[in-house]
Amino acid sequence: MDDKVKRARTEALFRDVNERIAESAQRFDASSTQFVCECADPHCTHRLEATLVEYEEVRADGATFMLAPGHEHTDIERVIDDSRKRFHIVEKMQATVRETVRRLNPRTA
Ligand SMILES: [Zn+2]
Repeated sequence: MDDKVKRARTEALFRDVNERIAESAQRFDASSTQFVCECADPHCTHRLEATLVEYEEVRADGATFMLAPGHEHTDIERVIDDSRKRFHIVEKMQATVRETVRRLNPRTA
């Protein structure tokens, strides 16, 4: 498999995990929770503290992801929001990756 597709799929998988985390946080009426880092490293175990409002902000676009500061891969994505220390928001710029994560977006499926 193409390396860029592989990395895009890893990130999409972490996004799926976070969708489940957000759902259960909502169910328990929590305003913030621990999300997983949505970077391209399948072995990454970083946790990111974020509010559900912040999380929704990230999910508003199918090409944006949240990850631990410094976990971005600059050949496929760029940081669009580094205002918080807890996590940064990146946007997929590389065409194949952008197309793959948008196609796998659970919110538009
Ligand atoms: Zn990471």
